[in-house]
Amino acid sequence: MPFLDFEIERRRTFAIISHPDAGKTTLTEKLLLFGGAIQLAGSVKGRKAARHATSDWMEMEKQRGISVTTSVMQFEHRDRIFNLLDTPGHEDFSEDTYRTLTAVDSALMVIDSAKGVEERTIKLMEVCRLRDTPILTFINKLDREGREPVELLDEVERILDIQCAPITWPIGMGKRFKGVYHLYEDAIHLFSASHGDRIVKGEIVEGLDNPKLDELLGDQAEELRMEIELVRGASHAFDLEAYRAGRQTPVFFGSAINNFGILELLDAFAEYAPPPQARQARERPVIPGEEKFSGFVFKIQANMDPAHRDRIAFLRVCSGKYTKGMRLFHVRSGKAMQVANAITFQADSRENVEEAYPGDIIGLHNHGTIQVGDTFTQGENLKFEGIPYFAPELFRRVVLKDPLRSKALQRGLQQLSEEGATQLFKPLRNNDLILGAVGVLQFDVTAFRLKSEYNVDCVYDAVPVTTARWVSCSDPKKLEEFKRKVYDNLAEDGSGYLVYLATSRVNLALTEERWPDIRFSATREL
Ligand code: GDP
Repeated sequence: MPFLDFEIERRRTFAIISHPDAGKTTLTEKLLLFGGAIQLAGSVKGRKAARHATSDWMEMEKQRGISVTTSVMQFEHRDRIFNLLDTPGHEDFSEDTYRTLTAVDSALMVIDSAKGVEERTIKLMEVCRLRDTPILTFINKLDREGREPVELLDEVERILDIQCAPITWPIGMGKRFKGVYHLYEDAIHLFSASHGDRIVKGEIVEGLDNPKLDELLGDQAEELRMEIELVRGASHAFDLEAYRAGRQTPVFFGSAINNFGILELLDAFAEYAPPPQARQARERPVIPGEEKFSGFVFKIQANMDPAHRDRIAFLRVCSGKYTKGMRLFHVRSGKAMQVANAITFQADSRENVEEAYPGDIIGLHNHGTIQVGDTFTQGENLKFEGIPYFAPELFRRVVLKDPLRSKALQRGLQQLSEEGATQLFKPLRNNDLILGAVGVLQFDVTAFRLKSEYNVDCVYDAVPVTTARWVSCSDPKKLEEFKRKVYDNLAEDGSGYLVYLATSRVNLALTEERWPDIRFSATREL
């Protein structure tokens, strides 16, 4: 196998999707532990602690500095190289989360066994759907009393509209939790709380009919045998192709905090999750094994680390190989750039990358020229597709404290929206500036950056807008009529596209019904 193919085949680039508190941070730590990157585990915790203090600007600076370093975590397991892209949870939920999902080849979904499918998971799943991203499921916290496994799988199938194929099955739960049965290895992995922080495989009993099981589990052994018979009859068998197509999710059970069930998960992940895939560019599909380098920027993060006061553009390598000092062609500006100091974010220090392969993420220093969605190549005019803007769900009117700073405000908002920090909407009927965001912290970050980077003081007002839709129509006359009739609800976004600002869900539904020829879209491609 050519060297490049070897490096591509062993990469797994993924994100974890879950509702807050399901155990994403804990699972991340354990994965890193298995991957030998133990020193990182602490920094994941540190980041989490900082994340809660959002009102304090100093804290926020610190937090954002830290989160840059943990945005991408690389670890190895069974000769595979995993790139875990962090998606911020909790209050700093933002469009970054969505866009990060466009840069992965697969996802790991964590579900709390007591809670089942929760709201944030549903949203993230919708985003994964856009690209049929393959999803592996980990049902967590089996050491606690939770809901019946059958009921949980049923809920996943029903609400998330994806087939479940259990790979492991839990033996009891809470105080009676004894381990998991691996349906395909016909082996019982016994639970012991002593798994703790150590990398141990734990005790394994081969075969469901093994009499040793009755000794160890008592009544639960017979219960298990009956249950497994039912499960085998009633659930979907694992189908690699269906998983890779995003139609089926293999399911694992365990307890992240006890380090239990993770190895089974990681082993399966190493084996089944897809390596870097071909990507569609406007001009043609791009295959990872192509000799020439290409990649796209999916996120830009202001880096508040005092030692590195710049912005970092996160680029996913799609094809070819990056080597230090390489000249890259920035397609949008048509300019070549010498990239001597791209970075990765391993451990707590930022190391300069010597080389990177498809599936890897590199960080480019950015002084305002790079935007989210930008493509870099070795000279070819390519534009990768599928980095979307999502319709925001929170809106604020920007009120300037000093009217003389109006120009600076406009410039700041325009640049921040190009960076993807928030979205800017300009109503057709007046000179208001309306910001839209997916998470409320984005407003704070924007106000903070307007002050620190553009010297503009602003506050926010409430606006009667609940959601937005990009509108288009193949018939220009119809569109003109629509514009006249609903003029008061229309705005332009930062790039000049027409947007309908709905005052309520009902208002949106009625408008959509009244204008069947108009296309209302909840996403816009960059
Ligand atoms: P995140 O918000 O999804 O990142 O969740 P965390 O990893 O921070 O976990 C949320 C809470 O659940 C924390 O208090 C964890 O200690 C706890 N937790 C995580 N995994 C388990 C588990 O397997 N069993 C139990 N009982 N608690 C867990």
